[in-house]
Amino acid sequence: MLDADFFRRWLTAAAAAVDREAERLTALDSPIGDADHGSNLQRGFAAVVAALEKEEPPTPGAVLTLAGRQLISTVGGASGPLYGTLLRRTGKALGNDAAEVTGEQLRDALRTGVEAVRTLGGAAPGDKTMVDALVPAVDALGESFAAAAAAAERGAEETTGLQARKGRASYLGERSIGHRDPGATSAALLVAALAEAAGA
Ligand code: ADP
Ligand code: MG
Ligand code: MG
Repeated sequence: MLDADFFRRWLTAAAAAVDREAERLTALDSPIGDADHGSNLQRGFAAVVAALEKEEPPTPGAVLTLAGRQLISTVGGASGPLYGTLLRRTGKALGNDAAEVTGEQLRDALRTGVEAVRTLGGAAPGDKTMVDALVPAVDALGESFAAAAAAAERGAEETTGLQARKGRASYLGERSIGHRDPGATSAALLVAALAEAAGA
């Protein structure tokens, strides 16, 4: 069973990964974006960690909805509302009251969260966005957290060959091909942090 502490560990590990990889994320956002993805997420996840320490939400659902709200309110870029929606909708699907959830409940909730990201951003798999890491991750989560992390990383890698159809990178048309998507790369970090929290 996964309790509020598990979800705090996930988001704390995600914040540490974002800090560690901020320069790389911003560098990836330079040729096909506006060179702010690392700093956007650093600001957002710092706010998430601060809010979790201050408010100490008691359940998995409450941890995720608080985190999602922080990302939406502190990140100006496209990724803030998208990741914020992912966490908020996943949290909402888990419900505010359950003190513990199963791995299967988390998988179903994350699927709902990823669906909400797709609805908000209008991106399908293959459009060279975070969706290209998130969808395979949720599909592999039935197997294990480690399999989900590997699938997300593979999905992020494969964005290099794709032409962007959503977000700033899409303005470049064919010239977006050959560059790895920053959001898919950060999504893989978030899924790796989930596996880390699970001890996988
Ligand atoms: P901005 O582009 O506003 O500066 P960021 O640099 O923080 O925001 O985030 C860019 C990332 O957001 C992209 O690499 C991509 O993965 C993701 N993204 C952008 N638009 C969309 C969308 N419509 N749907 C899904 N993901 C998107
Ligand atoms: Mg950007
Ligand atoms: Mg920006």
